[in-house]
Amino acid sequence: MSAPRILVAGAGPAGQALALALAESGLPCTLLDPAPAAPGAAGGADLRVFALTPASLTLLGRLGAWPPPQAERVQAFRRMQVWERDPADGFVLDAAASGAPALGTIVEHAVLQHGLAGRLAGHAGIERLQQATVVGCRQDGTGIEVELADGRRRRGAVLVAADGAASPLREQAGIAVDRHDYGQAGLVANVAATVGHGGVARQRFLATGPLALLPLADDAVSIVWTLPASAADRLAALADGDFGQALTEASGGILGRLTPSGPRVCFPLRRQLAQRYVEGRMVLLADAAHTVHPLAGQGLNLGLADVAVLVPLLAAAVSRGLDPGNAAVLARYARARQGANALAAHGFGAILGLYAWDLPGAAGLRAFGHGLLRRLPALRRAVVEVASG
Ligand SMILES: Cc1cc2nc3c(=O)[nH]c(=O)nc-3n(C[C@H](O)[C@H](O)[C@H](O)COP(=O)(O)OP(=O)(O)OC[C@H]3O[C@@H](n4cnc5c(N)ncnc54)[C@H](O)[C@@H]3O)c2cc1C
Repeated sequence: MSAPRILVAGAGPAGQALALALAESGLPCTLLDPAPAAPGAAGGADLRVFALTPASLTLLGRLGAWPPPQAERVQAFRRMQVWERDPADGFVLDAAASGAPALGTIVEHAVLQHGLAGRLAGHAGIERLQQATVVGCRQDGTGIEVELADGRRRRGAVLVAADGAASPLREQAGIAVDRHDYGQAGLVANVAATVGHGGVARQRFLATGPLALLPLADDAVSIVWTLPASAADRLAALADGDFGQALTEASGGILGRLTPSGPRVCFPLRRQLAQRYVEGRMVLLADAAHTVHPLAGQGLNLGLADVAVLVPLLAAAVSRGLDPGNAAVLARYARARQGANALAAHGFGAILGLYAWDLPGAAGLRAFGHGLLRRLPALRRAVVEVASG
């Protein structure tokens, strides 16, 4: 008898990685992708880049999805420099502290998506449906059935909602979220710099929010500039020269003169945590379950950690002859991930709050923390281990 089918709604990086992990574990799955075609050649419009932790790369590597075919566009970084006013008063985290080859690896959205889609294509265990927008689902004691916008239907034992932060499935199931709007936007752009990045990721904490300068291949730099939403919109609309000047000033000139090399996009930033991860045979995964502030570059890493927990639980249930949609199995996933994701989300918010704090003495407290990190290798090692996932 064939194993029960798992339905995956959403073909973002989390949904694609999940489909691959399920199939590699012997669980047949149907991936429901609203797009007309699977992600094609890199160079798509989504400017986001992901700073993937070594733990995420291990998972993707096990799935045969890492390195991606366009490996020349991937950039590992060994060091991360963090500062507020003067780089000399900040601190540097080095992968060497934990013996890891790199702290993280920067990959463009399109490169990751294309690599995952390539691995999925033709995989015997995966049915990929395009133009497959889920508009509803119904469940009973033996399974769950989704209905697509064009009337098609699919039935499975479990439905995983990997349908992003706005998750229509989460909404339809009436699962409430705890939402905190930071009132900020992340302005994302690729820029050219007159000073080479040297494979170092940099983050400067400004009074308005952090500015991340992430190293890309060919010495290009991806910026994620957190700003009050109105300021982000204003900066995004500036002429290239004016934007480059404002950005160079904000970066303190650490990479020389910065010049935009393409479009700029603003993402609204919020922390959003689903109050429940499970509704009968449906479970939430990745951004559908949690979104976090991008300052630590952990959003997708948390989603991939969800994948790493959920798939073995489903596979173990099936190998013991159990229904993978069984409440006890899905509750174990929720127990393992909900607290960890909430802790991470609140932790990133706390770091942001610490740097936004401008009460008397706050700057001194931050300088004291930076000094501790500079002087105490054991503390740096602990931070590196957490940051590496
Ligand atoms: C500025 C910024 C910078 C970031 N930087 C990092 C970083 O450095 N590192 C990191 O790990 N994370 C980072 N993140 C977070 C990361 O972008 C997200 O966590 C990640 O993209 C979530 O992937 P996902 O697959 O869950 O969702 P998405 O990528 O949003 O995919 C959701 C999918 O669901 C589909 N869908 C929607 N509705 C339906 C429906 N009704 N039926 C079927 N499918 C549907 C969509 O079409 C889409 O394919 C950043 C985020 C931002 C905003």
